[in-house]
Amino acid sequence: MGEFELIRTYFQPLADGAGQDQLLLGPGDDCAIQRVPPGLDLVFSVDTLVEGVHFPSDYSPDHLGWRALAVAVSDLAAMGASPVCFTLALTLPDANPGWLKPFSEGLARASKAFGIALAGGDTTRGSLTITIQVHGTVDNGRALYRSGAKPGDLICVSGTLGAAGAALHYLAETDPSPAQLALLSRYHFPQPRLELGQQLAGRASSAIDVSDGLLADLGHILEASGTGARIDTGRIPMMAELVTLKGENARDLALGAGDDYELCITIPPEIFETLEHSVARELAVIGVITSEPGLQLSGPAPSGIQGYEHFGRPA
Ligand code: ADP
Ligand code: MG
Repeated sequence: MGEFELIRTYFQPLADGAGQDQLLLGPGDDCAIQRVPPGLDLVFSVDTLVEGVHFPSDYSPDHLGWRALAVAVSDLAAMGASPVCFTLALTLPDANPGWLKPFSEGLARASKAFGIALAGGDTTRGSLTITIQVHGTVDNGRALYRSGAKPGDLICVSGTLGAAGAALHYLAETDPSPAQLALLSRYHFPQPRLELGQQLAGRASSAIDVSDGLLADLGHILEASGTGARIDTGRIPMMAELVTLKGENARDLALGAGDDYELCITIPPEIFETLEHSVARELAVIGVITSEPGLQLSGPAPSGIQGYEHFGRPA
């Protein structure tokens, strides 16, 4: 199968499904064209996934298709942006329909779910590598930066943390239990918090998506904002299945493990008061931004989590 037949068969359908009116021209020409209406800022980001580094060798192509787009789109969610279109640079060892079909189907489901249309790409031969650039838009000046947190702001997280990191232990499980399956689906099918990010654009003071672990990613906010934070580890939301399976270690995973793609957001308390109930109930308040640098933890003590030492232990 030649490059163009491959694109036509597997990827062209993803150009039309998402119905994005900003995408004037999709795949097939020398470039794609996006028209950004007045009043909107273009927000874009690129992510590369290398087999054996960012996902296991022999990882299910169907899961990979979803996951690759979801983790890229999660960066748009963290900026408060609405997805528009993406490009796909695909490096493949061979043109194997047994891999391409399920990969493109997983990718198509994600593209539809997130309302982001395929705009173009590049196809080359080599070790399996997937690069996705995502484009989105946000009202002028309302994007959420990492650098806006101020002392007194509430620190919030969406959803639950730790499950995807715990699932790494079960990827090779041939007959996973229902609880293990619940964790595995958090790893295979991350759900970028697009709606929440958009609802908080222009209102939250800072945001980041939790890809590397809460402490590490909150650390990026603290560094960019020149602040510290106090966190109550007892308030970190966790899935019941995580607590059941991991016991004492569940909290360490919730603080230190990555791959959840939830949002960590800071919000001034007076703005938090004005949030709609439907938005506030998506958020757990886990701490507060402080003017003194460093991260202080209170509540149940974590035992041995990565990244913890960077911030120093509380006195
Ligand atoms: P060029 O040599 O001008 O870069 P290519 O041969 O790389 O053109 O690509 C031809 C067209 O096919 C372009 O419009 C490009 O966006 C599209 N394309 C190539 N690979 C992919 C892919 N994996 N997914 C979607 N579109 C692709
Ligand atoms: Mg090219």
